Amino acid sequence: MTTSWIGVESVLRDIMPVVSSEALLHNVTVNWDDQMELPRVLADGEMLKQVFLNLCKNGIEAMTEGGTLTVRGSVLQLGKSSRIVIEIQDTGPGIPLDLINKIFDPFVTTKQNGTGLGLSVCQRILHDFGGTISATSRDKGALFTVMLPC
Ligand code: ADP
Ligand code: MG
Repeated sequence: MTTSWIGVESVLRDIMPVVSSEALLHNVTVNWDDQMELPRVLADGEMLKQVFLNLCKNGIEAMTEGGTLTVRGSVLQLGKSSRIVIEIQDTGPGIPLDLINKIFDPFVTTKQNGTGLGLSVCQRILHDFGGTISATSRDKGALFTVMLPC
């Protein structure tokens, strides 16, 4: 693991070609701000790529009838410390209530060929860098929120 101060927007920029072509195959529109500028975080860029790629792929896979994947970045001030907040939102069916507390556990999957490891790996990586991940699902679609200290 090589940890350094990295800009998450460049991590997102690196994965966008893969995400976009995956999205195209699934009739999904990708909505992300390629001008976003965020404070740097202390992390491993390759591992963060894995995190955001997993989340985008899950979102795209959930939208079996097409839809929109939105990726947003912002900064949250918490007293003297601040966090960057990356939100990944889809317009799929959302996460069933009985599943939402289990999706970060390893081997929990609703997919025929799923491993159920994606989200548990995401969570572990983010915890390693002092970050968090959470999921909400309301009217339509799922929203995953990643926070990292910056
Ligand atoms: P896998 O993708 O191999 O199933 P993950 O750990 O990535 O494993 O996801 C676990 C489960 O969480 C998925 O099988 C799915 O049921 C649910 N899930 C994850 N992301 C979404 C999403 N964006 N919309 C709806 N359900 C989701
Ligand atoms: Mg997955």
